[in-house]
Amino acid sequence: MSKDETSVVYLKGSFRQTCGYCGCIFSVEVPGRIRNEGPENYCCPECNKRFPVKAADKPRVTLIHGRADGLKKKYSND
Ligand SMILES: [Zn+2]
Repeated sequence: MSKDETSVVYLKGSFRQTCGYCGCIFSVEVPGRIRNEGPENYCCPECNKRFPVKAADKPRVTLIHGRADGLKKKYSND
């Protein structure tokens, strides 16, 4: 495999997720790169709850439906 092939960033996957904390729905697009991925995080767009993922770069998060719990509280990640 050439060097160029391993450095290309591609869309590894995209999926929809319901946040377990606030109940909002968002989509996640995970960038991949062959043999060049590491631990990344993405955050819920409403409550900021953090989710780990293996990716080449920070995943892109798009809010689809706002939070369902009616609160404004942010998730405490630590
Ligand atoms: Zn959330």
